[in-house]
Amino acid sequence: MPSESHTVFKNGTVILPNNALENGVVVSSGGRIGLVGTAGEVAVPEDALFIDANGGFIAPGYVDLHVHGGAGADFMDGTSEAVVTATNAHARHGTTTIFPTTTTGSRAQIEAMLQACLEVQRSGTDDSGAHIAGVHFYGPYFADAKVGCHSRSGRRDPDPAEYISDFDRDIIRIATCAAELDGAAEFYAEASRRGYLITCGHSNASWTEMARAYEAGMRHVDHFWCAMSSVPSIRERLGTPSQGSMEQFVLMHREMSTEVIADGCHLAPELLEFAWTMKGVERLCIVTDANRAMDMPPGQYRFGPGTDGEWFTSDGQVGFQPGAGLASSVVGMDTMVRNMVRFTSAGIVNAVRMASLTPAERAGIGEVTGSLEAGKRADVLVLNRDLDVKRVFTRGREVQIMTRF
Ligand SMILES: [Zn+2]
Ligand SMILES: [Zn+2]
Repeated sequence: MPSESHTVFKNGTVILPNNALENGVVVSSGGRIGLVGTAGEVAVPEDALFIDANGGFIAPGYVDLHVHGGAGADFMDGTSEAVVTATNAHARHGTTTIFPTTTTGSRAQIEAMLQACLEVQRSGTDDSGAHIAGVHFYGPYFADAKVGCHSRSGRRDPDPAEYISDFDRDIIRIATCAAELDGAAEFYAEASRRGYLITCGHSNASWTEMARAYEAGMRHVDHFWCAMSSVPSIRERLGTPSQGSMEQFVLMHREMSTEVIADGCHLAPELLEFAWTMKGVERLCIVTDANRAMDMPPGQYRFGPGTDGEWFTSDGQVGFQPGAGLASSVVGMDTMVRNMVRFTSAGIVNAVRMASLTPAERAGIGEVTGSLEAGKRADVLVLNRDLDVKRVFTRGREVQIMTRF
């Protein structure tokens, strides 16, 4: 065995936040990144463990802000087994930092999910997969007209008795609420006091409601163009003159960030190009929004809790509810990043950044992970030239990549 030792990633193009280093080298030790540079300029310890990228890419591990599950498990199943199954599945697709995301559901179901994520995080059983940086408290505070594929009976208005006790569990780092709901401002104020990334989603909010939310600390909108307001939807709700919607509010405010589901099924290439061009690399995140059908054969699955979540169908490309629309994605971050490169002008460096450093920064963990920079966690991917994930390291340790079905 090499000594405590150094791991050296070599013979690949190292992807940094703003550029790529041809024939680069990344040295890590003790789970952290040490030196990064080009071969020849970096002194490589001779007793190191060498990881040969075979001419591919050496990239930062991906960071997913919005994800429901995978490999048959949904985080809302509320068991540590489900949490571990899903975090392991996503690690195999290159996600090394994950924010398990709640759906609508009963108070008890959400509490069970928070508890399961907390147990896995605290016990370190997420060592074998993506590291849980915190929970994205997403459902249940959605607008009735915009619940999408979530169960309508599990939706409600913000209730301080519920969310304060959930926030007090100290696992939530991202908090979503539809801006037009009664009590939204108080919810945002509480989340803001705790330093969460505050987001508005599954909402039919007007410009005025978004402006009020912004005052209260809201800075992000979930899955752009999905379950959100538009000028026509606001006109239908509030009449004429036509008013601004979430779309204009996000595009107009430099500080607002958002996310795209880049599976090629939710948004056509021109919308991916539009989102990245308008918001830029520091304000657009790529998310998977993947559900339990990821890495599972086509079939019928429940979205959210395994006991009573809404049924949807996966055809292996995307989830959908026949007659009702899409029901989130069934592919991992590796596919999303490949699609951004293929469908837009972003290029590899920017596409990788939108799946790593940008989401890390928005969630407040950009100092810890999200890029291959000295002092950060050794969350490292080895990709081939087609951006397929070949090897995955979280905190310097290799994740076993198994292929399912
Ligand atoms: Zn959603
Ligand atoms: Zn979602």
